[in-house]
Amino acid sequence: MSIDNQHFEVSKHKDYLYVIKENISLVHPVYTNDPLNIYLLLGSHTALLLDTGCGLSPLKPIVDKLIGERKLLVFNTHYHWDHPLGNEEFNEVYIHENEVDLVSKPYDVSYFKDSPNEIVKIYAEKDFLIPPAKTIKPLKDGDKFDLGDIDIKVIHCPGHSPGSICLLTSNGELFTSDVAYYGDQFLPKKEEFPEVLNTLSKLIKLCETQENLELYPSHRNYPCDITLLKDLYEGIKNIDNLWVTKKSFDFFEAWQIDDKKFRYFVSRT
Ligand SMILES: [Zn+2]
Repeated sequence: MSIDNQHFEVSKHKDYLYVIKENISLVHPVYTNDPLNIYLLLGSHTALLLDTGCGLSPLKPIVDKLIGERKLLVFNTHYHWDHPLGNEEFNEVYIHENEVDLVSKPYDVSYFKDSPNEIVKIYAEKDFLIPPAKTIKPLKDGDKFDLGDIDIKVIHCPGHSPGSICLLTSNGELFTSDVAYYGDQFLPKKEEFPEVLNTLSKLIKLCETQENLELYPSHRNYPCDITLLKDLYEGIKNIDNLWVTKKSFDFFEAWQIDDKKFRYFVSRT
């Protein structure tokens, strides 16, 4: 099955920053966090692609066209399915060391077998096992990369997943991955909330010391500011008070809790 090249929407946000958007609700209607934002940063000699998306349509030809002669680095923000499934198009992909194993083997997406959406035939053709990149390289907190006129620093932000990373650029952008965005939140078990809150307060402190940082989440609207981090911090801290209102959401094996700003899915497993 093939899909036309309208699958991704490419927009130039700054001279050196492109956003390649993909609608993840195409895979299953339970996912409402459209679009997924795949970011492409263009330094003077090196480009950085942040995530490879759902693996439904060729991404590399689009990236190759935009980067010209530059060298390409490919990072995954974390291992959740909507971020690394295009990895097989690339020789070498970086991810935090905690999640190297998770993306080094074929990625099992058999939970989409019953999706009502036609597009999952693309996964069915691969028996719902999506091949990895040839080489996976580990990232650590504090790692630095030089793209030419832009420097990148890796910030380990565990909570949403054990190896989630955010990226800080020397131009004042903070790519927040799925650690912070306005949309439905996927949270680990309640016992792990201290780690989630710790990460958010670390990022809030960063935004307070380095004013005017622009936040670029991996889903929905961008840029955001420190308010997003504070809203999320307060919301997650308050989940305990709303715990009696929780409903079961079986597809995600999660408890669903709503407040005025967010819907939270808290993992039961
Ligand atoms: Zn995501």
